[in-house]
Amino acid sequence: MSRKKSVAKNILIIYTGGTIGMVHDKKTGSLKPFNFSKISSLLPEVSNFKCKIDFVSLSPLVDSSNMKPLTWSKLALLIEKNYNNYDGFIILHGTDTMAYSSSALSFMLQNLGKPVILTGSQLPIGAIRTDARRNLVTSIEIVAGNVNVPEVCVFFNAQLFRGNRVEKFTSSKFDAFSSPNYPVLAEAGVEIVFNNEFIKKQTNEVLIVNTNLNTNVAVLKLFPGLSRHVAEAATKTKNLKALIIETYGSGNAPTDSWFLQCLKNTIDKNIAVINVSQCTGGIVEMGKYETSNALKKMRVISAHDMTLEAALTKTMFLFGQGLTATEVRVEFDKALAGELSGE
Ligand code: ASP
Repeated sequence: MSRKKSVAKNILIIYTGGTIGMVHDKKTGSLKPFNFSKISSLLPEVSNFKCKIDFVSLSPLVDSSNMKPLTWSKLALLIEKNYNNYDGFIILHGTDTMAYSSSALSFMLQNLGKPVILTGSQLPIGAIRTDARRNLVTSIEIVAGNVNVPEVCVFFNAQLFRGNRVEKFTSSKFDAFSSPNYPVLAEAGVEIVFNNEFIKKQTNEVLIVNTNLNTNVAVLKLFPGLSRHVAEAATKTKNLKALIIETYGSGNAPTDSWFLQCLKNTIDKNIAVINVSQCTGGIVEMGKYETSNALKKMRVISAHDMTLEAALTKTMFLFGQGLTATEVRVEFDKALAGELSGE
């Protein structure tokens, strides 16, 4: 095994908020973000790595349930501004919307040649059984190491994932994230083992940061009993660019004529209708069952095996570039940042 001589890396840690840095508010008893300078003092072991670490906090710090596209833009611009000075970036983020942020950033940071790892924790860093320490320390070890992972990733509970393939699937266990349709990029056991064939290849292209997002999108989750009133109200939203329908199984939906007509009217208004499955794993295959034939015929766009988080942020990104619904359909069949398989 050949070992490359390690060169000390420069790492920028960006703190956005989230449980990792929260404390109990004595008055309300709820968790709220606190100042990051206190976190760094709780992690003295970090100084043992052969790397130089700088910290920066976003202001205001947020519980990630308050995350907004504007903050994604701030993060993307912060990375752009510091890109040449650092070998990698670690974003400390709440777990609730981490998969949305990692997906959005994967589209916004084109030609990324350095790792951007989002991590957080289920227990605050000051808690005795906290998972924050190992999530952060291992993220630092990955960026400081010899294997370059030039993509937006999520590191959680010993696994490094592609950022636009993850979903938060539990709020009560340490292994909070899963990547149902794409293998993990690395496993941190006694050693950190990289799954090289699944890691994006290094690019020599120049980083392009694109912060234009269009948020005129709606998500309609199907369920037995969905009323006509609710479905039609969603499609009549002013300035709507895209309606993502969360369908059943391999992309199936009810065949009621009012429902199909509602989708058809929406498509006729040049609004993209996008089919994402409610299933965590698997792929949308319109036409496989009779219950998706009509969707295929009216040219509903397939999100293939994308997560909802990836499909939603990809939609915001594509419409943010001024694309039409027809152009968005073409882009949905392509992987822009490794977000779908089998291309
Ligand atoms: N509500 C918190 C957040 O997403 C939960 C967490 O960090 O795990 O900011």
